[in-house]
Amino acid sequence: MSVHAGPTNANGHRRRQLVARVKAEEDYCALCGGIVDKSLGMIAGEHGPRCAKPECAGCVPHPMRGEVDEDLPRARGGSPLERANVALMHRSCNQEKGTRTIEEELARRAGTTAQSAAVITNLVEW
Ligand SMILES: [Zn+2]
Ligand SMILES: [Zn+2]
Repeated sequence: MSVHAGPTNANGHRRRQLVARVKAEEDYCALCGGIVDKSLGMIAGEHGPRCAKPECAGCVPHPMRGEVDEDLPRARGGSPLERANVALMHRSCNQEKGTRTIEEELARRAGTTAQSAAVITNLVEW
C-alpha cells in the first residue's frame, strides 16, 4: 500500500473503504428502489472480448449487481469520497443514469425535465 496516494486518488484506499461502507449500509437501489442482491458478481460463463484466461469463471458484470455511484458524478465535480454523494445502485441503473444526478435521472424517468426536478422529493434517505 502506497503512502503517497493523495486525495485525488479516487480509486485508492479511501474509496475502497467507502464502497465497502455503502454496500454494508444500503440494501436498495437509489434509483429504482429495488433490492440489490449483493451476492451477484460476474455472470458465470460469460467473458469479455479480451478474456483469454482458461481459469476464468466469468468476467462480464451482472447488470443487477450492486455498484456504488456518485450522485453528482466526478466529471461534474462530485466527490467519490464523500458519503453524502454516493449511493448503492444496480449496475444497469447506474449505466442508465450516466452523468446525470439521481434527481435528474428520476425526473427523466418520470418524463419531466431537469428544470422541474426541484419539485420531486429526493427519495434517498441518510
Ligand atoms: Zn435499480
Ligand atoms: Zn473471462
